[in-house]
Amino acid sequence: MIELPVWTHPIVGQIAESYARQRLPHALMLVGREGDGLSLLGDFLRRGLLCKQGGIKPCGQCKSCLLVHAGAHPDSRVLEPEGKSLTIKVDQIRGIADFMHETPQQGGNKVIRLTHSEKMNNAAANAVLKMLEEPTPNTYLILESSSLSRMLPTVRSRCRLYKLEQPGHDQAHQWLTDNGIEQPEQRLAMADGAPLAASRISNEAIDQWHRQVSCFLQERNFTALAAFIQQQDPLTLLNQTLLWVDTAIRRLNRQTAPVPERDEDLVQALQGLPTVSLFRFRDYIVQLKQGLQQQANLNQQMWSEQLSARWLEMTGHA
Ligand SMILES: [Zn+2]
Repeated sequence: MIELPVWTHPIVGQIAESYARQRLPHALMLVGREGDGLSLLGDFLRRGLLCKQGGIKPCGQCKSCLLVHAGAHPDSRVLEPEGKSLTIKVDQIRGIADFMHETPQQGGNKVIRLTHSEKMNNAAANAVLKMLEEPTPNTYLILESSSLSRMLPTVRSRCRLYKLEQPGHDQAHQWLTDNGIEQPEQRLAMADGAPLAASRISNEAIDQWHRQVSCFLQERNFTALAAFIQQQDPLTLLNQTLLWVDTAIRRLNRQTAPVPERDEDLVQALQGLPTVSLFRFRDYIVQLKQGLQQQANLNQQMWSEQLSARWLEMTGHA
């Protein structure tokens, strides 16, 4: 039996109600962040729609639920991005064309789940569009997407949209605590507030984060800081610096912004700087992040030295 986090309950409630009134459309698009439990929700609905007990919640005990659990339900398909490029390709969609027209073997619904459906290439999206235009009875399509803007508008418009809201900080914190996860505050900061992503962060990653805090707080030597930066995972480090700066900016705007205890001294130091410097540094980090995401082979030595220089300049130690 899957326990769904509390912030997914509104969506499940809406879907359950439509389903009970036999008004659930055959195509559902779930939009949200993976780290907030998007896959968990998609899988829950797939199981629920296959369950023989009726209703949307899987009972976990009927024949259908047991078949799903064993990964052997004949009336369900899960398509995921494949290959080096991690895309959903048209062959994968075509591969389930026959399945679409088969009579369900268990006499209930048929359910197709597309995880990371924003990773469909154009040909695949057009094949899905065809499926959406010619629905077959008792067949449900669940499309999960973490980026609505990357979905083909024609596909989007043929699905009913369900948006998975991000949990509030207290909800996220509570969920981690209930699941026995240590250092919830620290993990949430590292995972941009996404609880499921936070729960998967390793202790080594937390230790590394602490080392980064200490180094950025104490190191005044340009070369030493640059060398340290160069050894770090670029995106993690940039997200971390962005978090410090954003927190400082929020506090200067009189908003409450909690950070892990170990980061507090650093954020307080930043709060003492001119706002314009913080914003300038923020722009620089955002640009650097975009550059890294577009071309992974950005000269690491060069940007490490730049970041070191910028940081020391901003904090008045250049
Ligand atoms: Zn069941």
